[in-house]
Amino acid sequence: MKIKPALPKGTRDFGPEELRKRNYIFGIIRNVFEKYGFQPIETPAMENLSTLEGKYGEEGDKLLFRILNNGDFLKEVREQKIELREENLKQVTSLIAEKGLRYDLTIPFARYVVQHQHAITFPFKRYQIQPVWRADRPQKGRYREFYQCDADVIGSTSLLNEAELIFLYEEVFTKLGLDVKIQFNNRKLLVALAEKNGICDKLMAFTTALDKLDKVGEEKVKEELTSAGINTKALEVILAMKSLSSDEKIAYLEKYFPKEEYSRSGMNEIQYILKQASACKKLEFAPALARGLDYYTGTIFEVKPTQVQMGSLGGGGRYDNLTGVFGLPGVSGVGISFGVERIYDVMQELQLFERINLPAGSVRAMFINFGGEAEKQAFQYLQQLRARDIASEIYPSAEKIKKQIAYADKKGIAYVIFAGEEELKSGQLQVKELKSGTQHSCTPEELITLLTADSQ
Ligand code: AMP
Repeated sequence: MKIKPALPKGTRDFGPEELRKRNYIFGIIRNVFEKYGFQPIETPAMENLSTLEGKYGEEGDKLLFRILNNGDFLKEVREQKIELREENLKQVTSLIAEKGLRYDLTIPFARYVVQHQHAITFPFKRYQIQPVWRADRPQKGRYREFYQCDADVIGSTSLLNEAELIFLYEEVFTKLGLDVKIQFNNRKLLVALAEKNGICDKLMAFTTALDKLDKVGEEKVKEELTSAGINTKALEVILAMKSLSSDEKIAYLEKYFPKEEYSRSGMNEIQYILKQASACKKLEFAPALARGLDYYTGTIFEVKPTQVQMGSLGGGGRYDNLTGVFGLPGVSGVGISFGVERIYDVMQELQLFERINLPAGSVRAMFINFGGEAEKQAFQYLQQLRARDIASEIYPSAEKIKKQIAYADKKGIAYVIFAGEEELKSGQLQVKELKSGTQHSCTPEELITLLTADSQ
């Protein structure tokens, strides 16, 4: 039987050309993370489902990829005589799958912190660049496997961390040449608005609806709230500030909240951040920003591209008690995430890679294969180049020269070297620079000097 080669929905292959571009993005993010004092960690692709479940809201739970247990995974179900009916589905699932693929990098990080708490010096600034998986419906900018690049500071309540993360965001996007706005809000403000308008018991439904404002528009959000029995007064307050500047929004909310409610509503934190990060021109206070994830308790961030229609390129926020569920309460953290797939897609759409001098293929030189004695000699020269850490290769068989050169050209190899019988006799090799087409002769020693100088 022939199997049609295909990928699971929402996943992709990356060829060398794409990887060069992706690695360019990873490189910039990693360098900035390191520059700001973050240290790398990695965690396994799979976690116990008990670690993941219940952390991402009801919607998130549904999007977890669960891994079927090994061996006779139905044994427990049979032994407990559980019938396969709709109402037993949760129970059955928990018996047949104990592990799942990680959904983000934050929850695994919280688990890591608790497990390694005695070895960690707090505040702990870690970064993590790894793929995550979500069983989302694939569409533009939404994949089922995608990389996140996270930076978090855990064990510090200082708002200076928030300010730092804003500058980190700004630096990365500036270096990538991407125009974005960095929006921020505070969950405490949303809680205070809900309290003041008597919808506190429906806070989750309120923030979930608000989160869709950008996507579906005001009317749809109002409809969703009304049908959930939530009055739209808090939403009206948010909408009233829509076209105000950050400072005008502050003034508006100063009037709206009585003094004692004002500070409790996170407004002091918002003002502090605006002041500390005032040099960041991309920053914007956005009271309508809600963020879907359950665990945020203070500042929340989201980065959006300004020139292209696309979901957020990054997001994050402060969580006061993520480690609590794993037995280490009271450790506050704040972090941000970069969504590399969307950053890549936007850069591709804006043709930004064309403006960037991407490092060419890493192979510097290729020996043309003339077969026989010449092949043997060229193979020895090749070893000499490699001994000096010069990335080089020899075409594996004596094909037509045109074909060999075309191969080198396609691969972005800078030089091809002719070491045929003539050259071996004269002790002079012919070196051709493929980009310019120029050719000259040199001794094997001069070749090493040329390639060494060229690769520095
Ligand atoms: P979140 O963990 O949901 O806060 O997402 C953080 C970032 O990851 C977002 O800003 C996106 O850039 C990216 N992201 C989230 N979901 C997806 C997805 N399904 N496909 C690609 N990127 C995503």
